[in-house]
Order: sequence, then structure tokens, then C-alpha cells
Amino acid sequence: MNKNKIPLLLVEDEPHIAQGLIFNLEEEGYLITHVESGEQALEQLTKKSYALIILDLALPGISGLEVCEQLRTQGDQIPILMLTARGTEQDRITGLSKGADDYLAKPFNLKEFLLRVAGLLRRANWQPNHLESKLYSFGNNQINLETHQATTTHGTIQLTDLEMRMLLLFFNQEGKILSRGELLKQVWGMSPKTETRSLDNFVVRLRKYFEVEPTKPRYFRTIRGRGYRFIQAPE
Ligand code: CA
Repeated sequence: MNKNKIPLLLVEDEPHIAQGLIFNLEEEGYLITHVESGEQALEQLTKKSYALIILDLALPGISGLEVCEQLRTQGDQIPILMLTARGTEQDRITGLSKGADDYLAKPFNLKEFLLRVAGLLRRANWQPNHLESKLYSFGNNQINLETHQATTTHGTIQLTDLEMRMLLLFFNQEGKILSRGELLKQVWGMSPKTETRSLDNFVVRLRKYFEVEPTKPRYFRTIRGRGYRFIQAPE
């Protein structure tokens, strides 16, 4: 019976809040794993696949922000709903800039919380076998996130680790403009000020692989003066 339930990871150190959330999420039919620290969360994620992380910001040890940042740097695309006691605009921006997909300030309305969870799962198009198959598709392209093999309009290719890392950054932040500096830093670990043509060459290569017409990119777009944007369903 449990195999059809959607597995969620809850990272919350305050027992009474955790208890309330677990109760309500289980009521909704989700399968909850609860941990109390960022370290435990990262460890748990190496053992099992989850559809979504509900991540408290203020945790003992490493913070929710650090957990978020670490996962995104590793290219993990798992949806993250960040919870925090602080509701300032700056906190929200910091959380979202570290890769959280949504953000809720405590105390929050339980109904709204459950709607946000459902909304994130819907956006991630989560299906029971989605995480097991580890496939990412857009247009006529399908990429196996484990073997790094891609099937495209132009044939089958084996992606390098760097290509894969850049693709995951794009997929993970679909629709968002990624600056050159951000991409350089996340893919090559360079200082954002580093001048290099390698990034542009990389994007040219990704277009050759995945665009039907590489010179008229639909998916990997240049946003003049700002960076690049990956978009699944162009107008
Ligand atoms: Ca806390």
C-alpha cells in the first residue's frame, strides 16, 4: 500500500511543529520521513529518493540555506519548500536565490502549506516511477541523469560531467535567467569575474546536441546582456 504514496522529506527541529505537519501530511496521503538536522537530511537523501523536501531554515548545525545550496551545487533538482520563522523580504529572496522553489514564513496557514506542497509536486510533475527512471525530457530530447546518455533529434550522445552539470543547473532553474558569472561559478567553480569563452562554447555545444536548429535556439536562449535561460515550452 505504501508504494503508491508520495515520499516527502521533512527537515524540522521543533518537535511540536514537526508533529503537526506530519499528522496533516499523512492525512493527505503522503509518506513522511522526518529528520531534525541538515546533516541528517543530506545523509537521508543519499539513501532514498524523495519527491520534495520541506526544509526549515533555522536548524541546529548547518542551516536550511546551506542544505539548499549544497544540493543545488551538486545538481540535485529536488523541489524544496523552505520554512522559516523570519518573514522578511530579504530572507525570502535569500532562500529563493539559494535554490528553494517556494517559501513559507511561520506561522503559516496549514491549508496554504498543503496547497504549496501539492503545487510544487504538480510543477515537478512527480509520478511514482519518476525518480526511479531518472529521465529528463524536453522536446524530442531525453536524458538519462544517471548514465548521462542522451537521445536527441541528431542521435545518441554521451554527455561529459561538465555538460551534465551545466544541464542540471538549467533544468533545475527552468525559465530563470542564469548570469554568466553564476554559470561559471557553479559549473567550473571560477570567480564570477573570470572572463572566458568556454561558457559560450559550451552553450553552442548544448545547442548542437539538443536544438532542432542550433542557430535558432528554442530551449537554450541567450538573454542579451544578462546570461542564458533554459525554457521547456517556448511560446
Ligand atoms: Ca527551527
